[in-house]
Amino acid sequence: MGQIHTIGIPRGLMAYRSGVLWKAFFEELGLSCVISPKSDRQILEKGTKRAADETCLPFKLYLGHVESLLGECDAIFVPRMGGYRPKEKMCTRYEALPDLVKNIFRNQHPNILTVSYDWYDHTDEAKVYLSLGAALGRSKSESKKAYGAARKKMDQWMKAKEKKQNILLEGDGLKILAAGHPYVLHDPFMGGEISRLLGKMGATVVFTDYVNREKALKRSYHFSKVMPWIINREMTGAVMLLRERVDGIVLLSAYPCGPDSLVNDMLVRKVKEIPMLSLTLDAQSGAAGMETRVESFMDIIRYQKAGGYGNH
Ligand code: SF4
Repeated sequence: MGQIHTIGIPRGLMAYRSGVLWKAFFEELGLSCVISPKSDRQILEKGTKRAADETCLPFKLYLGHVESLLGECDAIFVPRMGGYRPKEKMCTRYEALPDLVKNIFRNQHPNILTVSYDWYDHTDEAKVYLSLGAALGRSKSESKKAYGAARKKMDQWMKAKEKKQNILLEGDGLKILAAGHPYVLHDPFMGGEISRLLGKMGATVVFTDYVNREKALKRSYHFSKVMPWIINREMTGAVMLLRERVDGIVLLSAYPCGPDSLVNDMLVRKVKEIPMLSLTLDAQSGAAGMETRVESFMDIIRYQKAGGYGNH
């Protein structure tokens, strides 16, 4: 790998959380980072042209983000994330991510910087970042220092999100929990638009990924002991923790997602005591056309809070 000064980070998939750690790590090592622009229709169109039809909307968007970084940096960071523990796996898309990207963009010959881990490697995050530093020609002590500082930044970022959300949960008004994968919840083309609609209709929106992660993971075992996917674990655990503190839940999924299709259905059947709206976003329309459904959902919650239809 030639000399790398600038690293491109596609603004998609787990960049919505781990991006804080990645950017801080690279910058601690003296590199510059370029983040692809926020998702929009154009980025989706770029990605859709590259992807096989049956791939999920977040992956199509991710490919659009990769394409927008071509020629803008010395290397594009595409990690292979299998998960650190057997019961905390990522979906298979993450295990194949660098291979998929290299193959799909093979005619453009992008320089892909990657790092790889999987639960059967018996590795941990610190070791993974030491190997990433080594791939960039940095010494063990430089990489260790950079990882320590980046991890601290990431922890502070997550704590700040959690703290801010706890204040919102204590406040008055109608609270809606948006439940889903971080990149579905916060991508402006997907959940970002739904949160905007909910906000416009007067709701305070809180998110499953801004809940204390350890507590959510622990609580998720009350929901399922065998579910293998860590992001669905966090999400279901957070729903279990917050369901009594919110007025409704909007369950967001991006079509077609294998883990969500199993887990969300189970969630809808298990959580009965609170209104839940399940929305599936697809590549054709994204969040467009969801306004009527969100509006009706908000009406139902308002009527219920006022004592039910019978009292009006
Ligand atoms: S978990 Fe679902 S939405 Fe996320 S990458 Fe895998 S298939 Fe796509």
